[in-house]
Amino acid sequence: MRIRIDADRCQGHQMCAVVAPELFGSDDFGNATILIEGAVPPELEAKARRGAGTCPEQAVIIED
Ligand code: SF4
Repeated sequence: MRIRIDADRCQGHQMCAVVAPELFGSDDFGNATILIEGAVPPELEAKARRGAGTCPEQAVIIED
């Protein structure tokens, strides 16, 4: 699994970072960033899906 942020959709709510702080951070403008390189570790995949599910803008893209 890989995750990325659709920067055009992200509005900086930070819901993703609240539910999965290991995976999502924020840039200087408050928009989401991905904190890991490459594939999501298996033990964090559920949190990645939770982060995607909580985003009100559907800005977290999951690529299986
Ligand atoms: S919850 Fe969605 S809109 Fe908000 S910071 Fe995260 S990716 Fe961006």
